[in-house]
Amino acid sequence: MTLPELQQALSAQGLPLFRAAQIFRWLHVAGVDSFDKMTNLSKQLRETLAQSYYIPYAAIERKLVSHSDETVKYLFSLYDGETVESVVMKYKYGYTICVSTQVGCKMGCKFCASTLSGCVRNLAASEILSQIHCAQNDMGVRISHVVLMGMGEPLDNYDNVMRFLELVSDEKGLHISARNISLSTCGIVPHIRLLAQKKLQITLSVSLHAPNDAIRSTIMPVNRRWGVEELLAACKEYTALTSRRISYEYAMIEGVNDSDACARELGSKLKGSLAHVNLIPVNKVKENTFQKSGREQMNRFIEILKKYGVSATVRRTLGSDINASCGQLRRSAAKAQKEVSK
Ligand code: SAH
Repeated sequence: MTLPELQQALSAQGLPLFRAAQIFRWLHVAGVDSFDKMTNLSKQLRETLAQSYYIPYAAIERKLVSHSDETVKYLFSLYDGETVESVVMKYKYGYTICVSTQVGCKMGCKFCASTLSGCVRNLAASEILSQIHCAQNDMGVRISHVVLMGMGEPLDNYDNVMRFLELVSDEKGLHISARNISLSTCGIVPHIRLLAQKKLQITLSVSLHAPNDAIRSTIMPVNRRWGVEELLAACKEYTALTSRRISYEYAMIEGVNDSDACARELGSKLKGSLAHVNLIPVNKVKENTFQKSGREQMNRFIEILKKYGVSATVRRTLGSDINASCGQLRRSAAKAQKEVSK
């Protein structure tokens, strides 16, 4: 709940308004998982609250810590037993969390592990938020940056994600500013347009992965609904309205989208726009046969893009020893559970 919503709920129960600010701090700053921990409330009030409300807190189901770079991966279980993944990465400027927005995903990208079993349900705003609280409390650190790049398609859960953005940036709450938040989308064009209208200062990441419809439609079914030209037009609108640079994600898959011709086509389409290309060596997912491109080809790709005035870098890989890319841990946990119940 936002502070005004809490105030309204309390006054409807005849409770004093100043309690709302106290409860808001417990929920949004301390991120407690039960009313019992709200120690400046009377025992009676805590019991009353617990009778009418619940705190949808993510519980740690599994936790993996990378030996090489301290990246932490969590498998969280939710109130209904469903699980989602989050990853916390340590950078020079602080801690970044990658959160999930859906249980599974229905977008069907061929290289992605999150979508293999479809989408079970959307996460509520509170469930996205509680991934941050739970990780912060467990690690004893303050998380300063958020990327919505975990399981799920954020713009397929538009209303809850917008509510999450409002809550997470509340200055009385976690107060993570929009500039420290990135939202990644596979390209739900009408919702990119809606988001643009809001003129938020978040970074929009667009999972492009191919420069034309012929290639993109074979690896990303969403492209059959909104093709590359339409997507890039929506991105142009987004930068025009927000003045924010768009970050294009491009998973380099050997022999699929990594040729010099692809680089030239991408360069000519992004030329002159406020853009940065993030090349990601495609992560191995055992259910498909995609292989990552070689380092040399990635460097060639970057050099070609540069000739078109398009900046590009290779994304640093973190947590590769703990399967840190999303979707993989949930799948292996679900599989283990199936084997146990057999
Ligand atoms: N649904 C959103 C956000 C989640 S996926 C989106 O599509 O952007 C986060 C990023 O990881 C996306 O860019 C996605 O395309 C990419 N990704 C998924 N599987 C991958 C893999 N096996 N290797 C590299 N990147 C992958």
